[in-house]
Amino acid sequence: MNKLILEGDPPVEVLLRRSSRAKKLSLRVSQLDGRVTLTVPRYASEREALGFAREKAAWLRGHVSRFEADIVPTYGVELPYEGQMIRLEAGTGRKVLLVNDVLHVPGAPERLGARVAAFLKENARVRLTGASDHYAALLGRDFSRISLRDTRSRWGSCSSERALMYSWRLIMAPPEVLDYVAAHEVAHLQEMNHSRAFWALVEQLYGAHAAPRRWLREHGTGLHKFRFGN
Ligand SMILES: [Zn+2]
Repeated sequence: MNKLILEGDPPVEVLLRRSSRAKKLSLRVSQLDGRVTLTVPRYASEREALGFAREKAAWLRGHVSRFEADIVPTYGVELPYEGQMIRLEAGTGRKVLLVNDVLHVPGAPERLGARVAAFLKENARVRLTGASDHYAALLGRDFSRISLRDTRSRWGSCSSERALMYSWRLIMAPPEVLDYVAAHEVAHLQEMNHSRAFWALVEQLYGAHAAPRRWLREHGTGLHKFRFGN
């Protein structure tokens, strides 16, 4: 993938994606992190692509500007959960409840961020434990424990003591991305490196892993802009 920069204030980075199936030029702004992708049909030139992006520059800037600042959860805000956007609303009763695409959060507004973070961590623990158990059983090895953190530098790790660590923000990513990270870390129980043997093992456990790795590269940082104030 190539990219181009639209000059202006602010400059907008546009990723170019060549497609043999696309019939026309089309622009897409990721809901998750504001990343802009321009799909370019095989027969369109780079010049045409740039012209098209320039024409849409104002529209693009309007969409992209929403993604510059960190997002603090308030009622009405949308955030990703298992790859889908869910909206935060006030709730009644005691429990945080997800109904369709709305997360109902009871309690004082100033506790909203903390309660949403708790909901994400709780579900991250359930999903990551389940996925780790699944891949560990496939591999025929076990891990000593699982811990969740909020790490920016990595999505997971596996120590020589066979302890697995994951970022709880993975619960915001599509399920197959979370599964991939679990398979990756579990594979380290056998191969403590990133050798060919390691990647062959990941493929054996998880299957083809290019798509979830690309997703993390392209959208991973977008998961960090939500500030829960814990
Ligand atoms: Zn690794």
